[in-house]
Amino acid sequence: MAYYLEERPGGPALAPRRPTINELFLSTYQTGAYAGCEIGCHYCDGWSFNTRPFNEVVRAFVDLPERFAEHIKTLPEGELIAFNLADPYQPAERTYRLTRQMLQACHLAQRPVLIQTKSHAVLEDLTLLQRMNEDNLAIVMFSILTVDPLLSEKLESKAPPPSIRLEALNTLRRAGIPTAVSLIPVIPYLTDTDRQLPVTLEAIAAVEPQWVCWEYLWQPNERHRLRMAELLNRLGNYPAAYYRELYGTEMQPGAEYRREMNREIMGRCEQFGLRVRAPLELYKQHLSPTNTAALLLKHQAFEDHVKGRELLAGRHTHLADAVFKGEIDEAALAVSPLWPALREILSLTASHSRLDDMLQRLQQSGPQE
Ligand code: SF4
Repeated sequence: MAYYLEERPGGPALAPRRPTINELFLSTYQTGAYAGCEIGCHYCDGWSFNTRPFNEVVRAFVDLPERFAEHIKTLPEGELIAFNLADPYQPAERTYRLTRQMLQACHLAQRPVLIQTKSHAVLEDLTLLQRMNEDNLAIVMFSILTVDPLLSEKLESKAPPPSIRLEALNTLRRAGIPTAVSLIPVIPYLTDTDRQLPVTLEAIAAVEPQWVCWEYLWQPNERHRLRMAELLNRLGNYPAAYYRELYGTEMQPGAEYRREMNREIMGRCEQFGLRVRAPLELYKQHLSPTNTAALLLKHQAFEDHVKGRELLAGRHTHLADAVFKGEIDEAALAVSPLWPALREILSLTASHSRLDDMLQRLQQSGPQE
């Protein structure tokens, strides 16, 4: 068991609004009441930034729920808060119930939330989550990398086994809670293989989450690289140069690898009937119009990117970031294939559209010589 340190750091309860909307977690803010994580997955980047093993000492910010409850009253409506810093349902939650108190505050203030966890302990808040979801939006996202119990044991020995997570997801879905699965991180050489990936996605599809998303293993510094190299050596016949070639000096695997894997995972998701990225119908009633439009644009940009439409992907990303900041350029939005949906979401009437004005003027001026 980890050693728990109770702290009262004071100060702002939330970091500033993100500069761009997070397309995986639908969020503009992220929070967490614990620093350090007793689950201590071997690949977690939390190891990279701590001098002490970050699974042995967990700091519990016991004054956070109160400060958080005050802070979120000041946020504009339609901003989703993600509970995804450390694991909000790691064992310390059983002692302190800080995540629960913060969720209760979100319920009172009518804030949409997304919880990312590896623990079925989230079921202990099922009734609260149901109430929250009746009034607003409360999504539970399980992080699942593999359903192979042996591999899971080697990578994340203190996390509940994947079968328990899938069962918990099924229970939440049947209770009416929107659910999702994040394959975060996809670990090259270990969870991205032809043997692993289809089995993982098939098992996920069987419990019918509303969507899936993924990200690749991030290696933020040399310490993390060494840690991963040790892990890979322990796990099998690993060619030592593989990661060096894949990552070079970057924190994430090279663009070529990501492009190919994105295409492969997307194809396999289609095969198993898994939706990639959150459906618009789920969040559009609960997020502000600009956040909704920004997400829709970002999700489209991802699809464009995977399908090789790089120019369109770049345009959609740029538009998403502008809309998120409240900069609405109707003429630029109107050339997107998403224009009918964007016009409705942002309540842009045809008579106010610069593009429509332009088309009208062209029609009125008649045929050109
Ligand atoms: S559960 Fe999440 S935060 Fe905790 S160690 Fe694992 S990856 Fe890191």
